[in-house]
Amino acid sequence: MTVVRRNKVSNKKVNVKLEKQSRIGDSGRVKKETGRRKIKREPLDTIAVKQEEFSEEDLKNLKLLGLTISKFRTRCSRLLKGFEQKPESVQFEIPTTDLKRKPKLRYRPPNGTILDISKLDFDRPLEDQIELSDVYFLHHAITYSKRVVMVIGAGVSVGAGIPDFRSSNGLFQGLATKSSGSGKNLFDYNVFRSDGSIKKFESMIHKLYTLSNECDPTYYHHMIDKISEQGRLLRLYTQNIDCLDVQLPHLKTKIPLTFHKPYPKCIQLHGNIQLMNCSKCRYITQLNETFFKKAPNTEGRRLIVRCPECQEMNKVRDIAGKRLQNEGILRPRIVLYNEFHPDGEIIGSITESDIKSRPDCLIVTGTTLKIPGVRRLVKEMARSVHANKGYVIWVNIDPPTQSIVDYVEYFDLLVIGSCQMVPGLVSLYDYVYKPKKRRRKVNTKVETLKSEKIRVA
Ligand SMILES: [Zn+2]
Repeated sequence: MTVVRRNKVSNKKVNVKLEKQSRIGDSGRVKKETGRRKIKREPLDTIAVKQEEFSEEDLKNLKLLGLTISKFRTRCSRLLKGFEQKPESVQFEIPTTDLKRKPKLRYRPPNGTILDISKLDFDRPLEDQIELSDVYFLHHAITYSKRVVMVIGAGVSVGAGIPDFRSSNGLFQGLATKSSGSGKNLFDYNVFRSDGSIKKFESMIHKLYTLSNECDPTYYHHMIDKISEQGRLLRLYTQNIDCLDVQLPHLKTKIPLTFHKPYPKCIQLHGNIQLMNCSKCRYITQLNETFFKKAPNTEGRRLIVRCPECQEMNKVRDIAGKRLQNEGILRPRIVLYNEFHPDGEIIGSITESDIKSRPDCLIVTGTTLKIPGVRRLVKEMARSVHANKGYVIWVNIDPPTQSIVDYVEYFDLLVIGSCQMVPGLVSLYDYVYKPKKRRRKVNTKVETLKSEKIRVA
């Protein structure tokens, strides 16, 4: 095959013979095919087809997609390029954005649209598996929103190796007995009523504490951290006590929370497994392995002990001849069921301030919203986000129950599948499928979306 090119110096026409392994690059210049460009992935190899190899049906499909052969080729070469230049670290990084300009949203899925990514295979073209228009919306929300509010639950940490509380192989399993009922009871305030249940509680805390130290933050945690680094995270509300989130550099929290602004980026709704505190004098100390070893004078208990600070105080009072006071209990700084939330009031005022800051995106991830307080927070936040024409997205392995859908009212998109796929999906879309700036002039984006609709019809 030969093509005609102009010599840049003499401006004369020259015939350039294309060798078998050459191809015309995006810039129009002839590029030598290097070994690095060859991709061994099976489904993608079939993309590099010649024009005469398109069957009539293929051409019809292309027409339906609103693509010409050359457009299709460009897209494929970008797809190949995307896979080629994908070191592990880049693949899961969300794209950096220009904060000054937020592109106009060109497509909003109908309320409650489901985007099922549970069986998504990144090695196959996305358009064969899911609706690209929904991915466009997800990408737009995560990449361009300026005041993102995230609400996360145990589902986000499952990818790190910390079991979910409610699932069949979750933390509660193996702890449930006839006497203690379901394992959930171990997270109930009544656990402190008997020595037997305290011992079980201690072993569960030990398990969780060890896991928390051994496990690393997941891709999804890193994605949230990246959004925060870009200055676009308004707040992360976490129900997790494993501290995988707060150990990231841009998701720090403050303990205890105070009414002083600015509030920390991450709000731990249910406490923190790494800390112990006294229920009476608010003394806080770091939890460590020594708490799990038997110590003298602790009535056989290891973890749940009398507060040393309160004891010290009583000694002083004793010397001063004052009446002794009740001593508090030093226990893990986590909020149990049926327990008054020590930071409830502060969290309430932080939520209120966030709603006033006009958030433009709410992403609820890895939680079933079983806790009434969190459910209310999501509802109020979702209403505020929608009032600002923002985006409300649900990400979980299961869709929300009907009662949750009815209660929250606004869910633009329900992403069903592992949340760990989301960063990869967004970056892949950004890299491969997002229409280029040059093409935006001819409204390719709208064209693509239209063609998506045709496919649905
Ligand atoms: Zn105390």
